[in-house]
Amino acid sequence: MKSDQAIKLLNDEGLRLDGRRLDELRPLKIEVGVLKNADGSAYIEHGKNKIIVAVYGPREVHPKHLTLPDRAIVRVRYHMAPFSVPERKSPAPSRREIELSKVIREALEPAILVEKFPRTAIDVFIEVLQADGGTRCASITAAAVALADAGIPMKDLVAAVAVGKINGKIALDLNHLEDQYGEGDMPVAMMPGLKTITLLQADGIFSKEEFKQALDLAISGIQVIYRKQREALKKKYEKMIRTVTGGGS
Ligand code: ADP
Repeated sequence: MKSDQAIKLLNDEGLRLDGRRLDELRPLKIEVGVLKNADGSAYIEHGKNKIIVAVYGPREVHPKHLTLPDRAIVRVRYHMAPFSVPERKSPAPSRREIELSKVIREALEPAILVEKFPRTAIDVFIEVLQADGGTRCASITAAAVALADAGIPMKDLVAAVAVGKINGKIALDLNHLEDQYGEGDMPVAMMPGLKTITLLQADGIFSKEEFKQALDLAISGIQVIYRKQREALKKKYEKMIRTVTGGGS
């Protein structure tokens, strides 16, 4: 939620409170195949966000009446752990979590070849362990990798980042403080290889020029995230090959 209070988010050198430049991403770490009991999984640290994703499927649909004859259904549950935010959050799903589950599903679904698996379900469970702004985007980035890890055929990965406006300047990858005290926030997800945007939201007011600048900045950040996603997947398969060929783990 935005605060009406104005605080200085940029210093005299134009650096942000965490020392980043306006066009700089937070540190990003992605690991693939972190859960042995899921079909696919991923763990992401994006700045101070820590999120784990488990994917199951394609599998039988329960309850059965949700089955679609010509395609798989995709279900997403975004959940924040009670300890993920400074004040204990109730473990029960909030309106925000229900809305974000839908938003994340809609950002991922265009990439999944759902028609290849009629009468099945693909389930994505997202657990936010620590939140610091931009969790929907980090969840999308991790979920896309977990879907690929589950072997689910996809047109492309989906990578996401939020851009925004802080002290009148367009900035990449807002943290919670910037999200709360900034003038605008714009989460963007895309299939970078296909140059297709799958999520675009905006909170706050952006002029036409600011919008263009923000979108260009998001796209450049997404390219970096996309590279990290592919590196993480490659690392897992290289490890598997080494194990299979007896090259050690
Ligand atoms: P996103 O995480 O995608 O930016 P929001 O804009 O709704 O989604 O939330 C911004 C940030 O606000 C979250 O990343 C988190 O750090 C914080 N936040 C969300 N819900 C709560 C909550 N119940 N209590 C405290 N902080 C929260």
